[in-house]
Amino acid sequence: MEIERPFGLVVVPDIFDSSIIGDNQSCPRYYYWRHVRGAEIDTPSVAPHFGTSIHSALQMHYLLHDKSLTVEEIMHALTIMMPPTRDEKIAYSTIREAFQEIMNSSEPIHAACMIAFDWAWQDMEGDAIRNRNTADVLINRYRGYYLTEPFTLMEPRENYLEVGFTYHLFGDIYYFGRIDMVVDWPPYGKVPIDHKTSRNLGKSKFLEFNPFFQGDGYLGAARHHWDRVGAICVNVLQTAKTKHGLERFIEPRTDDHIEAWYSDAVDWVSEILERFEKWRWPRDKGGYGGYCTHWGACQFRSLCVSHDYMTVEQCDRQPIPGGYIENRWEPWDTGAITTTVEDLKEGRA
Ligand code: SF4
Repeated sequence: MEIERPFGLVVVPDIFDSSIIGDNQSCPRYYYWRHVRGAEIDTPSVAPHFGTSIHSALQMHYLLHDKSLTVEEIMHALTIMMPPTRDEKIAYSTIREAFQEIMNSSEPIHAACMIAFDWAWQDMEGDAIRNRNTADVLINRYRGYYLTEPFTLMEPRENYLEVGFTYHLFGDIYYFGRIDMVVDWPPYGKVPIDHKTSRNLGKSKFLEFNPFFQGDGYLGAARHHWDRVGAICVNVLQTAKTKHGLERFIEPRTDDHIEAWYSDAVDWVSEILERFEKWRWPRDKGGYGGYCTHWGACQFRSLCVSHDYMTVEQCDRQPIPGGYIENRWEPWDTGAITTTVEDLKEGRA
């Protein structure tokens, strides 16, 4: 469905993910600028980019972990991780150079992880905490610390790493997610694992864990697809200036958690759709998780300050201001796991 507003046509979304839902919960005006107008601050944000690049390094680590490292296995892992290109010659020379680098290294898996990091990082400068050197130290520490794992990786590994899924929520509305990895972890059974980079490891950082909206969505998708999915795990890598701690939080989960997740997901998505209908995007700087007080300031704080006399209708008449670019958040694709509410309910019955 499309709505006409002074700045143009707005497409009402029919796919949601945990970030989009979380942005509305934190502040509807944030949602308005980020997802209705598609605005983003014009300076790349280091933290999420670093997190994504570390995810790539971990994906490479687990593609090769415990492998005998034959030419075929290395080439297979490089082919999976290589950034997409339509030029076959570029693809061939990129993989060949990466392969040579790995073969010349005394630490081939670490070299492969850093190649995956670099492909995602794309020469970004970073900051004092998140840069290529700290990634090097962090990945090295991670690989040494988790030399042996309490879980088994399933084959073919690429099917259990970065697993996309789509839930049918209601009507023509869907929920999209991507699980970092799914492993076989006795005594829990299959466990979805979510990698997080974080400045601190304190348990309080993870009190969101229960309820853990993002994780319980993963659990429901995994439980629909595989037998015996009994827990979720958050795998934390600390990215502070001098500390590179590692921590894992694993929590058993039941069908009731999925039921509660589904109920919350329907309510929160319905609330967002209602906002489109009523066109109400209030500033909520004091609300739960409000970005004004969380993290110091959200990326739209200068807009809230300079537009502080404006209603959202007046904001509608403003072009996206200088200092911001239009860059819509569209992380979804067709997930490998597709579930329906009916399937979920049947699975629980
Ligand atoms: S500055 Fe505060 S009120 Fe304004 S969009 Fe950000 S979180 Fe919302």
